[in-house]
Amino acid sequence: MNWQQLSHASREEIEAIQNKKLRQFVAHVLPFSPFYRALFEKRGLSFNDIQTTDDLVKLPFISKEDIAPTVEDRARPRQFILQPDEHLIKQYARKSTLIKLLLGKLTGQNVKAKLEWEFRPVHVHFTTGRSALPTTFVNTNYDLELLKESGRRLLDVIRVPNDVTAINGFPYSPHLAFWLGYYAPVAVNMTSLATGGGKIMGTQKILDALERTKAALAMFIPGYCYHILRQAVADGRDLSSLKTLVFGGERVSDGLRQRVQELTTKLGATDVKILATYAMTECKTAWIQCSEHTGYHLYPDLGYVELVNKEGKRAKDGEPGEVVYSTLDWRGSVVMRYRTGDLAKGIEWGSCPGCGKTVPRIFPDIQRKSEVKEFNLAKLKGVLVNLNNVYPLLSARRDIEEWQLEIRKRNDDPYEVDELRLHVAPKSGVKLAAIRDELDRAIRDELEVSVDLIETPLPKLLEQLGMETELKEKRIVDLRPKT
Ligand SMILES: [Zn+2]
Repeated sequence: MNWQQLSHASREEIEAIQNKKLRQFVAHVLPFSPFYRALFEKRGLSFNDIQTTDDLVKLPFISKEDIAPTVEDRARPRQFILQPDEHLIKQYARKSTLIKLLLGKLTGQNVKAKLEWEFRPVHVHFTTGRSALPTTFVNTNYDLELLKESGRRLLDVIRVPNDVTAINGFPYSPHLAFWLGYYAPVAVNMTSLATGGGKIMGTQKILDALERTKAALAMFIPGYCYHILRQAVADGRDLSSLKTLVFGGERVSDGLRQRVQELTTKLGATDVKILATYAMTECKTAWIQCSEHTGYHLYPDLGYVELVNKEGKRAKDGEPGEVVYSTLDWRGSVVMRYRTGDLAKGIEWGSCPGCGKTVPRIFPDIQRKSEVKEFNLAKLKGVLVNLNNVYPLLSARRDIEEWQLEIRKRNDDPYEVDELRLHVAPKSGVKLAAIRDELDRAIRDELEVSVDLIETPLPKLLEQLGMETELKEKRIVDLRPKT
């Protein structure tokens, strides 16, 4: 079933495809993973025990901590790479593949080349966890084809025609956002410029490109997009051709969306659609909204997404839970029942009110785990503070131009208590003294801890944020020594 059919199929049809793909993947592909061979053996499971997505509960959850390298075992991520050898292929490959293999032995290089195309890592991504060392996640040529296919689907969901020019404003790095931003336009024969972001091409040249190519589609990290559009307004640019902004790499608050919309209006682009994506390295692609109020449209034949509640039980339709991902296709590094730590409000089925597609959709506004931090404050030890709430609070404020939250030890003494400092560049014409008390109260209400407010001039703050020098702006900086 192709994407056009799949994205309008009934739930029963989609679930039947998921079950079939899961069954085949677990029986014939997953055994090439050293981690999963050991896991199935340890649990006394056979690769035929997983027949439907309901059977996935037989597998334990894994998380970043299971994949990330450790100081003692730096090769740990290798255990998740599919590594077929002759013996494993004979044992697990589908009969039709075995026959081809047998023929291949007679006809020479063809089968070897096909196996290399399917399984040899050719493209590496990295994922970073705050507590973990960077983890490699590898892709094969098979994956790059699927990456293109998912890019094609992403552009289909947002209904951008292929005769426009796209600007890929994601920072160049071995990360999913840049490369999906690269392959999606390529997949549909769309003209695009991969700028590498502010650090590589620089804000002025990216603005030149947006203006001169009359780009209709641009992809950015939200904080950098706000920065570059503010610069465009200051320079009196004409970006009236812009129709769609795709955000990735970070969550988008309603406040930031509104402020970006105001800037695009000033730049002559009325009615720009601002669409957010949800992605993680381990799922190898990104899912997108079709309009500003709909959820992230999944590709149900490539991966299985379930939400699980605090007890680890699968949440019912529309109920909140942690996003858990299992691979149904893809090669290279693969994970099953991967706990992302991200909390979603629900998964919705049925016809999408925005585009009519019937694929399942994760409700927007996902809370990412990486922003929950533990603090030792003056009076309380080990307080968990959800810094997710800082983003919407501060980015919605019209009296603040930019901000940065800094976490450090008092007097930089590692044995001291933690302190939170908020650097603020008020909007021109606004005095911090005039908003200090109210801002202080708003933050205390939201975080239940107090912060030191420090007024920082905009140019200095932009430098501190690394807008032009970092891959991603440093919005929250943890300067506490690592323990
Ligand atoms: Zn839709």
